[in-house]
Parts: sequence; C-alpha cells; structure tokens
Amino acid sequence: MTTLFISDLHLEAERPDIAAQFVAFLADEARSAEALYILGDLFEAWVGDDDPNPHYAEMTRAIRELADSRVPVYFMHGNRDFMIGDDFAAAAGVTLLPDPTPVELYGRTVLLAHGDAYCTDDSEYQQMRAMVRNPDWQAMMRAKPVEERLAIARAAREQSMARNAGLTEEIMDVNQGAIETALREAGVSTMLHGHTHRPAVHTFELDGNEATRIVLGDWYDQGSVVRWDASGFTLSGLPRA
Ligand code: MN
Repeated sequence: MTTLFISDLHLEAERPDIAAQFVAFLADEARSAEALYILGDLFEAWVGDDDPNPHYAEMTRAIRELADSRVPVYFMHGNRDFMIGDDFAAAAGVTLLPDPTPVELYGRTVLLAHGDAYCTDDSEYQQMRAMVRNPDWQAMMRAKPVEERLAIARAAREQSMARNAGLTEEIMDVNQGAIETALREAGVSTMLHGHTHRPAVHTFELDGNEATRIVLGDWYDQGSVVRWDASGFTLSGLPRA
C-alpha cells in the first residue's frame, strides 16, 4: 500500500485543467492508496467555509467521494487556504492536521509541513502570517460578509504578487536554519513540505546524521506527488493528460 502526498494545486474556477487532473487523480490512483495527505494551498483563495463558490463545492464533493471509499484524507492549511475550518472538513470528509505534524510512515517518522513557516528570511511575510493565523483575527474576518472577504482576499493577492516580484528567490525560499530547528524540535531527520513550488529532494548533515527535506511541486503545468511505501519514497511529476 502507498501513502500519497500532494500540495499547491491552487484550485480555482479559472483553471479547469488543474481541477480535471485533480478529480481524475482522486478517482483513480488515490482510490487504492493507504491515505492521502494534502499539505496546503489546495485552493487558490479560501475566505471561509460559507463561501458559496460552486467550483469549490464541486472539488469538496470529489474529495468526499474518495473519503467515502474508505481512503483516509488529511488536510493541512496553506497560506492561501488557512481559513478552511471544521465545516469544510466535515463536508469533504477530511481530518485537519496542525502545521507541522509528525507522521509515522513505514517505520520512519516524517515531519509534514506546508513550508511557509520556514521562510524566515522574509520577516514581513512572517509578521503577516502571524496576524492571519491568530484566532481573533480569523473570527473578525468571519464576521464580515463573504463578498467583503472575497474583495479583501483579491486585494491581498494583488499586493502579495506585487511584493513578491521585488523579492529575490533566496528570500522566498525556506531558511536552512529554520528547517534544522524544526527537525531538532520534532526529533526527526526527514521533512516533507510544499509551498515554495521548487520540487526537490535535499539531503544534508544534521548533528552527525543524514537529514532529508522533500519538497512537493505545484500543479500549475503538471501534477506533483510523493508516493511512500515500505520501500521508501519517490517524488514525481504527473503529466497533464
Ligand atoms: Mn503556499
């Protein structure tokens, strides 16, 4: 049996090619998986579980069909869908995981994360992240009408794109020291995350042991998946049909 990991699909109605590949993945390969982990940024912009967006409802139903077929589905928040809550989890049949979460995979403990928490070189981003992950801020947002939240999200995305255009690649990548601290705190030597859209397997020495950091890619031009079974893991691109 194989455990599957994906992240950074950035689903939105304007990108039906991504949605079609995701739905096919859920109905096909994922059906025979031991479990599916979605490590954040499944949706391009989630402003609350009460958003009546029909595309998001369709994606939620597709995940639900997989969960109903007795494949456990786990979801971790990304920086685009951190407002996902218990209503979505119940509708989709998924279990929400804190970021980061250690999981036991075939005898190896792996620290799962979205990844943005380790982009510590971008201090302005980390300040914003701390604000929007605060339960009081989220409660204040949820009290606003959906239309207003959608307008705020649009403005935030435009601001973020304009800001990121002026940042170097290094600043927007994870910080090696932050990765090492997280691994030490969890007492593990393997991490699996997404967010940076730079699929790769990095190995490095950590306190005299070999450590591994696996990075999932985004689904913009093709899919990206980590498959893990008793013989280890593989990181693969999924060609678009
Ligand atoms: Mn992200």
